[in-house]
Amino acid sequence: MHNIFQILMSQDTEHVKCLIIGSGPAGYTAAIYAARADLKPVMYTGMLAGGQLTQTTEVENYPGYPNGIMGPEMMEDFRKQAERLGTDIRFGYVSSVDFSCLPHKVVVDESKTILADTVIISTGASAKWLGLESEQKYSGFGVSACAVCDGFFFKGQDVAIVGAGDTAAEEATYLAKLCRKVYMIVRRDEFRASKAMVHRVLNTRNIEILYDTETKEIVGDGQSVNGVTVINNKTNEEKTLAVTGFFVAIGHHPNTDIFRGWIHMDETGYIKTIPGSTTTNIEGVFCCGDAQDHIYRQAVTAAGSGCMAAIDAERYLAAKEHVVTA
Ligand code: NDP
Repeated sequence: MHNIFQILMSQDTEHVKCLIIGSGPAGYTAAIYAARADLKPVMYTGMLAGGQLTQTTEVENYPGYPNGIMGPEMMEDFRKQAERLGTDIRFGYVSSVDFSCLPHKVVVDESKTILADTVIISTGASAKWLGLESEQKYSGFGVSACAVCDGFFFKGQDVAIVGAGDTAAEEATYLAKLCRKVYMIVRRDEFRASKAMVHRVLNTRNIEILYDTETKEIVGDGQSVNGVTVINNKTNEEKTLAVTGFFVAIGHHPNTDIFRGWIHMDETGYIKTIPGSTTTNIEGVFCCGDAQDHIYRQAVTAAGSGCMAAIDAERYLAAKEHVVTA
């Protein structure tokens, strides 16, 4: 005989073989592989179902789409494929985890508890933005946080990039190969980037560095960007650069806060995995995509690591089963 508390508990608690947290290219690819391996994956999408790509426009560098595809449409294709193969996709947000024992305990929307034999973390990362209204207004219409993804659209044009770390330096040199001129907006009188990267920037003919400079506003005609107003924070001199593209490269924030204290991370919050695998320091917990990658951050690399995570989870479960039945 169950009392009411036990009945309520059983309604709000569910045991799954494979739980996938996050729904970008990494999560969906993990879902496709896990579903085909009969792990009956359950995915919680997070608040931004489809991840960062749903906030971009055209994706031209993902193999298999010869004519390119819009980011949101591509993520819809990923979702449909994962669903068709049997993934149980649910809209929900993981609010806390307890990885102290097996099965792992994951709380969704602060109410439902999932007990998971394996957990695949694919929560991604979010680009840091300056926080200007105009930046949001023109996001995807001249404003981008990924030069490798969007630089091509500004071929032969003048663009600006803000930031002075390794990412900004790398992306500025990448853009310099495609664009006529690249303004690099650096808020201090020096770079944060490594010496080698700074050397490369300084030796690129069509990069003009604006030190002690901050972005005041991105300007446009309502449809697309045609300039950026900057201000020198030492002289207060203000000017508008005529550019059609504005790239923000001031860092990314991995969406891993809920795992803090459980999983080994680097100092900026990227989850550490054993090189060549998606294995974390916690048994049965695997991590893929941008939550563990601050270097490549591409849809295709995220998808590749999602595939690895599902295979790692499958092999882990198979090995456990083997031990139990042996
Ligand atoms: P970082 O945090 O290293 O650099 C961020 C940059 O953005 C800093 O120069 C910072 O300025 C600037 N910035 C931050 N906020 C603002 C703002 N509001 N306005 C203007 N500028 C701002 O981030 P990265 O993405 O460059 O690098 C992250 C990590 O990844 C680093 O450890 C880096 O070394 C690594 N990485 C390595 C690569 C490689 O090895 N090939 C390639 C790319 C990244 P300030 O300096 O004044 O604080």
